[in-house]
Amino acid sequence: MTKAEKVQRIQEILEDLYPETPVPLDHSDAFTLLVAVLLSAQTTDKKVNEVTPALFERAPTPQAMAALEVDEIRQLIRQIGLAPTKAKRVRQLAEILVDQHGGRVPADPEALEALPGVGHKTASVVLAQAFGVPSFPVDTHIHRLCWRWGLSDGRNVEQTERDCKRLFPRDRWNKLHLQIIFFGREHCPARAHDPAVCPICAFAGVRKRQAAEARTARIEDAIRLARQGR
Ligand code: SF4
Repeated sequence: MTKAEKVQRIQEILEDLYPETPVPLDHSDAFTLLVAVLLSAQTTDKKVNEVTPALFERAPTPQAMAALEVDEIRQLIRQIGLAPTKAKRVRQLAEILVDQHGGRVPADPEALEALPGVGHKTASVVLAQAFGVPSFPVDTHIHRLCWRWGLSDGRNVEQTERDCKRLFPRDRWNKLHLQIIFFGREHCPARAHDPAVCPICAFAGVRKRQAAEARTARIEDAIRLARQGR
């Protein structure tokens, strides 16, 4: 199978499995999406969706968020990890949007990445999901799957993003990044599974990489068992 055939088949399978790609983080506009994505670092979307209704009811706009005390934001988001740091960043970010961007989220990658707590991936998510700008946000899960499927060499997320953009049609980027995330969440257990029965790894998986992962899993299992036996 050529790389082009593999890429085509992966797209068809993902489209079959996930014809609809609802954005996992609840939001009502670019500002609430930006805040939700920032809050989602090192926690689950589900957890973020539990805290944002109260936060956005209190402060649905950059102006309202900038008027809150950091401590009140921290209280509202206290159930998620890194709440003190995230509260500070959300407040700073709101102030900058009010002072420098007329109270709006800029649809511009550089301006977005200049905001506190907003890295390249967060900016790409906002560009894709709030503004419909073709982007391919790559998180560690997409990065790992693309490595397993032989679409990228796994050097780093930046390289994986470049490879995905080169391999997949531009008009599919925004949907595909969500489809791959959904696939990973539903199909990829943390360990102990058979790639031969996986709808994608069965034909796209790179044998050497599968063997290397299986070896690492066996070593980790042995270390864990040895520690438990102590
Ligand atoms: S074989 Fe496993 S890792 Fe590969 S895509 Fe399928 S479930 Fe995920």
